Amino acid sequence: MKYEAVIGLEIHAQLLTSSKAFCGCSTKFGAEANTQVCPVCLGMPGTLPVLNKKAVEFAVKMALATHCKINNKSIFARKNYFYPDLPKGYQISQYNEPLTQKGYIDIEVAGEKKRIGITRIHMEEDAGKLLHGETLEDEGFSFVDLNRAGVPLIEIVSEPDIRTAEEAVEYLKALRDILVYLEICDGNMEEGSFRCDANVSIRPKGQKEFGTKAELKNINSFRFVQKAIEYEIKRQIEVAEDGGKIVQETRLFDSDKGITVSMRSKEEAHDYRYFPEPDLLPLMVDEAWIEEIKGTLPELPAKKRERFVREYGIPSYDAGVLTATRELANYYEESVKLFNQPKVVSNWVMGELLRLLKEDGKDISKPSAFSLQPSAFARLLKMVDAGAVNLKTAKEVFEEVYKTGKEPDAIVKEKGLVQVSDEGAIIKAIDEVIAANPKEFADYKAGKEKLFSFFIGQIMKATKGQANPQVLNKLLKERLGKA
Ligand SMILES: [Zn+2]
Repeated sequence: MKYEAVIGLEIHAQLLTSSKAFCGCSTKFGAEANTQVCPVCLGMPGTLPVLNKKAVEFAVKMALATHCKINNKSIFARKNYFYPDLPKGYQISQYNEPLTQKGYIDIEVAGEKKRIGITRIHMEEDAGKLLHGETLEDEGFSFVDLNRAGVPLIEIVSEPDIRTAEEAVEYLKALRDILVYLEICDGNMEEGSFRCDANVSIRPKGQKEFGTKAELKNINSFRFVQKAIEYEIKRQIEVAEDGGKIVQETRLFDSDKGITVSMRSKEEAHDYRYFPEPDLLPLMVDEAWIEEIKGTLPELPAKKRERFVREYGIPSYDAGVLTATRELANYYEESVKLFNQPKVVSNWVMGELLRLLKEDGKDISKPSAFSLQPSAFARLLKMVDAGAVNLKTAKEVFEEVYKTGKEPDAIVKEKGLVQVSDEGAIIKAIDEVIAANPKEFADYKAGKEKLFSFFIGQIMKATKGQANPQVLNKLLKERLGKA
């Protein structure tokens, strides 16, 4: 029997507001434990929450970017449960009447477009963090840091439209790209500001009813999302084929072993006893404000990708890489403006620039990350185009400008890297190399054509890599004659 998987994702995205969802405490990441807290986010009796307008604006932005319907009236609710990182004993969330619902985004997997529905996007607050003692003297103790308690989140719930682990990863990446483009979330899975739970079930192909689902938690990278879902699908199919019964449960992904393990079954599941939050009025969002927010939306990744392919004539793969962040896309566009060969610029950005950034563990979204300005970059490409430096030299100069911010012309001059295109000088080098390698010359003449590259290599060495390759190729062919 053939099975298919049914997957839905629940994503939590921390909003980049400077203060928390219901109080004025800072949300800055990495501060000393429990220094960003106040009576409201500590859940002291008698305090009252006040909703952060910026958080609502950010949630509305995400809704607009994902074609969701925005409800003019929505309700905050209390989600009750006990855990030491939750000082109030409940989380303020939205339940029956969320801020937004019924949207979608389009993804592409192996060249196929697919639409994934979004059930709802609702607002809520984050909990604190437990730190389990890891040093010798802390062993056996647990600590609580409430700096994160009350940080605003949106939860994005997908329809069960996803069928494979690849689709899940693409959907997740697309959502993250949108959040980052909107500058409302930093999308950092490792630091937990972008988190994903996956509901996975299987059913015989062709069957309409859903199977029993398992909820996968604790997946903190795109690679792990793929692995966890693949493992879970395989596990469920094996259970079904062995005649077993799949039980509804929450499973944790163990990234070391690459497996999911049962955490709790349905019987132990929480009953959150949701009820409307009595300390907050219904959230009213009017059309005028929605329109105003709409006017601030940037060009979104999918639109930008399409435009790059259309406007610059580059492959969609290139467009995908170049639009990964707004900053990278801007960098590319500024460079093309100054050196109008889009595919050449794309090759350099994807090849050299991204390689160097990766080596240094730097992030192009921080303009201070490197010194190579589009103007210097374009000047270097013009020098290559004019034959003033060869490709190998240009790559060295590129790296130098990237590191030091010096002018490419100055580096070329300083290091004596100007490309030799003068035929006389190249012919002299060819003759010297032939004279020094009589045996290879004879072998070549006798038909060993492979030795052509040997000569190229030797001459390049003799000219310190500065011979213009095209000129050298032409002259060497003339000099060696047909083998
Ligand atoms: Zn606070």
